[in-house]
Amino acid sequence: MTTIMNKQILLVSRPEGCVSDSNFKIIQSSLPSVSDGEILVKVHYLSFDPTQRGWLNDVPSYVPPVQIGEVMRAGGVGEVVESGHPDYQVGDWVQGTFGWQEFALVTTDGVFPVAKVPAGVPVTQCLGVLGITGVTAYFGMTRIGKPIAGDVVLVSGAAGATGSVAGQIARLLGAKQVVGIAGGEAKCRWLIEEGGYDAAIDYRSENVAKRLRALCPEGVNVFFDNVGGQILDDALLNLAQGARVVLCGGISSGYGLELPPGPKNYMQLVIRRCRMEGFIVLDYINEFPMAVDQLKRWLDEGKLKSQEDIQQGLENAPRTLARLFEGKNIGKQLLQVASISA
Ligand code: NAP
Repeated sequence: MTTIMNKQILLVSRPEGCVSDSNFKIIQSSLPSVSDGEILVKVHYLSFDPTQRGWLNDVPSYVPPVQIGEVMRAGGVGEVVESGHPDYQVGDWVQGTFGWQEFALVTTDGVFPVAKVPAGVPVTQCLGVLGITGVTAYFGMTRIGKPIAGDVVLVSGAAGATGSVAGQIARLLGAKQVVGIAGGEAKCRWLIEEGGYDAAIDYRSENVAKRLRALCPEGVNVFFDNVGGQILDDALLNLAQGARVVLCGGISSGYGLELPPGPKNYMQLVIRRCRMEGFIVLDYINEFPMAVDQLKRWLDEGKLKSQEDIQQGLENAPRTLARLFEGKNIGKQLLQVASISA
């Protein structure tokens, strides 16, 4: 009988700034056998999410930190190659928390439970537009931002996985103008030519507050913020009466231990009678199937575009996570795990 070797990436030290290769080590080990209730998954694609950087800090959060010596936690999609669970058969495609490894031996419960990839759905979309980032955009926009016909909507981190979907949803809900903020000329061009945005602000080369005033002279009704920091402050200065500010993330802080500064311009919320509200997408977990159905309908009708950036090779996982903080990705950041011969 052939022993299957599993390549895994373990956390060996906690990063201080951005992650680097030196925070991790690659090991090879033989796979344990599959017990009742478990499935063995050959991991094909891994999802990269800014929140993974937060999981590396030794502080309490909405999930426990990844411990030194553990396989780096990550969402993924793959194929069942052995099953000890009556509901899962060899050959089923599944998504779940599989980690930075070639094979994952998992139970099917947990904070992000294992789910079968619905028939007819491209497997990578389960990690992006039909996965966590897609549903984050969906619930952040529909439940908190709630744009109505004629609204002006602003999205930061607009060319990323969540932002690219959030802007398109705002348009589908009837926004009259959708403006995106992103880093660099290529991303701004992408926002307008591919992402369905009306206008784009390059925060790396433009004065955001000034450009925003020029583009949206009557103010912004909904601001979907993925970034925080100075961009949040700039947007607060240009809110319309009764605006909604959706706090989705604050990636400008780098998600290290140092907390981002609070917004200076928060009194604008008082003066203009606005609301600013954060959310964690897991709050809506029971409604994920409904959101995925809606997103899929929009995709099938050609009303929603999905953009993916797929890197290659498990050993590139730390560098792929760093890409999110360096702004290298357009759309959903994924990595295809090298196939191995079993
Ligand atoms: P993403 O937007 O695909 O990738 C991150 C993007 O952030 C980068 O491409 C980069 O784009 C931008 N960025 C990085 N550093 C920045 C900085 N210093 N200033 C401004 N922009 C910066 O990632 P995602 O997975 O879709 O996540 C987007 C946001 O949603 C993150 O804040 C994440 O934590 C949050 N999120 C929240 C929830 C929730 O439940 N609340 C769930 C999922 C994600 P540029 O080139 O434009 O800088």
